[in-house]
Amino acid sequence: MSNIRFEALKAAFKHKPVEVVEPEGKVKDYFARDVFTREKMKEYIAQEILDQLFDDVDNGRTIHRDIANVVAIGIRKWATEHGATHFTHWFQPLTGGTAEKHDAFFTLKNGTLIEEFSGDSLYQQEPDASSFPSGGIRNTFEARGYSAWDPSSPVFLIGDTLCIPTVFVAYTGEALDYKTPLIRSTAALCHAAREVCSYFDKQVKHVHSNLGWEQEYFLVDEALYNARPDLMLTGRTLMGHNSAKSQQLEDHYFGAIPARVLAFMRDLEYEALCAGIPVRTRHNEVAPNQFEMAPIYEEMNLSNDHNLLVMSIMERVAAKHHFRVLLHEKPYAGVNGSGKHCNWSMETNTGVNLLAPGKNPYQNLQFITFLVNVLMAVHRHNGLLKASIVSATNEHRLGANEAPPAIISVFLGKQISEVLDKLEHASAEEAIIINAKKEMKLGVGNIPEILLDNTDRNRTSPFAFTGNRFEFRAVGSSANCGAAMLALNAAVAEQLMLFKEEVDKRIEQGEAKELVLFDIIKKYIVACKAIRFDGNGYSDEWKKEAAKRGLDCETSVPKIIDNYLLPDTIQMFEHTDVLNESELHSRCEVKWETYVKKLQIESRMMGDLVVNHVLPAAKRYQTMLLKNVLTVKQVFSEDESASLNEMDYSIIKQIEHHSGSVELMTEARHKANRQPDERSKALAYHDTVLPYMADIRDHADALELIVDDELWTLPKYRELMFIH
Ligand code: ADP
Ligand code: MG
Repeated sequence: MSNIRFEALKAAFKHKPVEVVEPEGKVKDYFARDVFTREKMKEYIAQEILDQLFDDVDNGRTIHRDIANVVAIGIRKWATEHGATHFTHWFQPLTGGTAEKHDAFFTLKNGTLIEEFSGDSLYQQEPDASSFPSGGIRNTFEARGYSAWDPSSPVFLIGDTLCIPTVFVAYTGEALDYKTPLIRSTAALCHAAREVCSYFDKQVKHVHSNLGWEQEYFLVDEALYNARPDLMLTGRTLMGHNSAKSQQLEDHYFGAIPARVLAFMRDLEYEALCAGIPVRTRHNEVAPNQFEMAPIYEEMNLSNDHNLLVMSIMERVAAKHHFRVLLHEKPYAGVNGSGKHCNWSMETNTGVNLLAPGKNPYQNLQFITFLVNVLMAVHRHNGLLKASIVSATNEHRLGANEAPPAIISVFLGKQISEVLDKLEHASAEEAIIINAKKEMKLGVGNIPEILLDNTDRNRTSPFAFTGNRFEFRAVGSSANCGAAMLALNAAVAEQLMLFKEEVDKRIEQGEAKELVLFDIIKKYIVACKAIRFDGNGYSDEWKKEAAKRGLDCETSVPKIIDNYLLPDTIQMFEHTDVLNESELHSRCEVKWETYVKKLQIESRMMGDLVVNHVLPAAKRYQTMLLKNVLTVKQVFSEDESASLNEMDYSIIKQIEHHSGSVELMTEARHKANRQPDERSKALAYHDTVLPYMADIRDHADALELIVDDELWTLPKYRELMFIH
């Protein structure tokens, strides 16, 4: 009888590194080869049109139809010259990932084929969007959705298709995607930060937020993947006993990259570079077959587009190399999961990083101002920030002993903590020294200009200051970073608005600006102290301590999602014009619904695996054992040793247990499905279905250890993780 696992292993061993062809020329020659960059636009579009376009884009104004028409002609010319036959609006629905609807560049007019791609096609498209989740928005407003050009992110080619980054909104204007509120949040932050910058530097006209993501992922051989229905359908292994050797020796981390993987990475990097994604680092991660890729940071909206693009390029390139890429946060239980650290900072048009210490006292006061306002925002909205990163898939990673804990806190490191402590205890005269020439000095000791190299790191912190930026480490590897980034941008924007109001009021009353700034910062340092934590985020003491400090310690994903609907959250999002109340409701609906669907698929898959893989193998083995007992009895009739030993009994017990648990899990699932709304369904899945899944898994994994290796049909952890 053939065993699919052995067939898969044979196929996997045959896979060799695939030859990679480097694009012609040097990196600078092929970087952004497939992108219609501003530079290239100059060749195809008249300068005065471009001046208008860039001015509108840079200042967040709507593009006029006439401009769009001219731009469209240029885009089509460039695209067709480079082999494009089709175009698509490329958008980011709430399902995650990206969506496309391809149209040809031509149309029929009076029976003849003519090439057409007008300003209208560039501007707006109506995807048949009824199947995208809207959380009830379209139903209540009876509005259809449409996608609309985002001119701030350049169009690009994938094969013969021109991709146009777009937002996806309802006809009534509500956002149905991640991009729309992300763009709104960068605008809100830009405005609020510029206002605060005016205390320090009048030259600042514009502030933008930067994102540098670090994408972690696993690779698995395609033949083995295909023999694991759970990986195929859910992206993770629902069972599998841990391998004798896993990550204990940490020998994979920063070790030599295996040849097949290296070929994949080079290919991936060439494709990413051609797509204008400035990828820079690649290395092994902690778990076997786990890797990471990171680009140079870019403006938030563009960087997020690039991350989504890279995720799809990864899948395509992996297939070419007979790999599958696993973007799931926790493909394997018991080994490290994958995250997507989001490095976040704010930068002025004058080139100043607002989260980096400066060269003079004003720049340092500015740095402290922004730093402390970020702390305040994270403190006030720690529950929301957690809600922005939770999902059915990230749930398995958070709080595990190798990932950020399910409590949001901020790590600052020793140096910055000391500066804040000094400020907290200093009097105004000690902190702000103004000499006779009206020059200001900060009396809190030195803030080294460069913190980057001497900032200590804390891998257990979900939100860490790393010298000139914050690293939001709790974001999941499969997530659209937009969800987390828009919450952070909006929270900080609102905080800066409140700060500005407070400062202005006191300046108007005649107080000196520097002293007011100091006084309010000092007040904030005290107010948000609870969010600062430099210790071990995995420890049980921290859980107790965090609860005492009033931080959000909820661990149930469906309940964490409630944070989107707290009065403070709604007010914050409305105040900053990032999301209105109905959009927030719809987002929660989608989050709960997606949670339910994912768990439903997993639980069904688990039932299937037990009934069709695990139990047949276990029963076959049991029959072998019983036959063995009979044979021994026949030969040595009265031999005591010919009875079932403990291991054999355990097989029988496991089999019985299994059959029972699957039935109970199915019952719990059916009951959950009958709940009246998405939130109650999600809660029921979390509280009643998940525990059965954990229990079934334990028993399946125990069986895997006992059953004859030759009978086991699912590729084992050691095979999935060590074959490359
Ligand atoms: P590490 O691996 O130690 O976290 P790296 O130097 O590899 O640090 O950087 C990680 C990510 O941080 C990269 O994506 C990088 O582009 C990004 N990054 C660096 N500086 C900034 C910044 N000022 N703002 C946003 N992201 C940044
Ligand atoms: Mg990092």
